[in-house]
Amino acid sequence: MDFGLTEEHLMIRDAARDFARTELLDGVIERDEKQSFPDELVKKMGDLGFMGIMVDPKYGGSGMDAISYVLIMEELSKIDASASVIVSVNNSLVCYGLESYGTEEQKQKYLTKLATGEFVGAFCLSEPEAGSDATSQATTAIDKGDHYVINGTKNWITNGGRSDVYLVIAQTDREKGHRGINAFIVEKGMEGFEIGPKEDKLGIRGSDTHTLQFNDVKVPKENRIGEDGFGFKFAMKTLSGGRIGIAAQALGIASGAYELALKYSKERKAFGTEICNHQAIAFKLADMFVEIEAARHLVMKAAWDKDQGNNYDQSSAMAKLYASKVAMEQSVEAVQIHGGNGFVKEYHVERMMRDAKITQIYEGTSEIQKIVISRSLIKG
Ligand SMILES: Cc1cc2nc3c(=O)[nH]c(=O)nc-3n(C[C@H](O)[C@H](O)[C@H](O)COP(=O)(O)OP(=O)(O)OC[C@H]3O[C@@H](n4cnc5c(N)ncnc54)[C@H](O)[C@@H]3O)c2cc1C
Repeated sequence: MDFGLTEEHLMIRDAARDFARTELLDGVIERDEKQSFPDELVKKMGDLGFMGIMVDPKYGGSGMDAISYVLIMEELSKIDASASVIVSVNNSLVCYGLESYGTEEQKQKYLTKLATGEFVGAFCLSEPEAGSDATSQATTAIDKGDHYVINGTKNWITNGGRSDVYLVIAQTDREKGHRGINAFIVEKGMEGFEIGPKEDKLGIRGSDTHTLQFNDVKVPKENRIGEDGFGFKFAMKTLSGGRIGIAAQALGIASGAYELALKYSKERKAFGTEICNHQAIAFKLADMFVEIEAARHLVMKAAWDKDQGNNYDQSSAMAKLYASKVAMEQSVEAVQIHGGNGFVKEYHVERMMRDAKITQIYEGTSEIQKIVISRSLIKG
C-alpha cells in the first residue's frame, strides 16, 4: 500500500479546504437551525468539480481517483457534513451507479448533468419496512412491455426534495426474491411521483431528507439500469463505494471537531494555565489524534482498494464502521474539552456531535457493517 499523496492530491485537498472555510463555514449554523438546503453552494461545488469527482471527463466529471474523493469529503465534512452528504450521494451512489452500469444513452442524458452539478441525484432504496433488510422491497415495478409502472413509498431519501434524477429500487418479480429486483431512473415531475414533507432531524439538518410516493408512475423501459433482475446487486455494489464516502465524512467530522478542540484548549485558561496543560485534557487530545489517524488509515485503505481495482466490500465496511465510531466518540470529547461553550451553537462542536450520529446509521448501520465484515471473514 502506498498512500503517498501526489502534488495533485494535495492541490485538490487544499482547494476543498479553502472552499469549506471560505464558503461553507459562513451560514453553516443558520442552515442547521433552519434546515435549509445550500442550493447556491451546490452549484459552486459543481463548478469546482466536486459533484462528479470520479466521473470520466468525457461525461463532464473531474476524472479523479477515490483517494481524491476521500480527501475532498474529509475537508468538506470538517465544516459542514450536510453539504458533504449531498456530494457523497451524488458521487458514490448516483454518478458511480450510472457510469458503471448505465447505458451510453443514460450516461449522455443524465450523468453529464449530474457530474457537473447542473442536476442533483438521489438514491432510493429504503422503505418504511425495508431498511437494513433491503431485500424486503414493497415498492413494485410491473413490466408493461415498453414501460414499467412503479407503485410504493421510499423514505429517508437524501436530496429527496431537491433532486432532478432519482435512482429507484423496486420489486418486479416477487417470486424471484432479490433476483427479481430492478433499478430505475425516475425524473422529477413524472406523473404520479410525489415528494412528501421534509424530515425534522437531529443532525445533518442542512441536508434534504424526504419520503417519496410513487403512484402508478410510468417509467420507460430504457430507464431500467442493467439487465432484468440486476437491481439488488446494483444497490449493493453502489452502497459499497458509498460507504467509502460516508467513512470519509465521519473522518472529517472527527478531525474537524479535534482541530477545534485543540485550538480551544490552547486558548482557554483554568487554574492559571491553558487547559491543554492539564494532563486530563492533553491525554484526551492524544487519544483523539490516535483514533482519528487509525480511522484515516482505514478510509485511505478502502479508497486505495477501489483505485487498485481490488474488491472493497470488506475494507469499505471496516472504514465506515470504525470511522463512524471515532466520529461519534471524538465529537463528544470535543464538546467536553469546550466545557459549557461546547454546549452552544456558536462553537460548532455540538452540531458536529449531532451530525456524527448519522454516520453510524445510513448506508448500512454499524450492525450491518459487522455482518458484511464477519461474512467476508468466514467466507475467506
Ligand atoms: C438522515 C438519513 C438519510 C438517509 N438517506 C437515505 C438515502 O438517501 N437513501 C436510502 O435509500 N436510504 C437512506 N436512509 C435510510 C438508512 O439507510 C436506513 O435508516 C438504515 O439503513 C437503517 O434502516 P432502518 O432505519 O429501517 O432501521 P432498521 O433496519 O429497522 O434497524 C433498526 C436497528 O436494528 C438493527 N438491525 C437490523 N437488522 C439487524 C440484523 N440482522 N442484525 C443486527 N442488527 C440489526 C439495526 O442495525 C438498527 O440498530 C437515510 C436515513 C437517514 C436517517
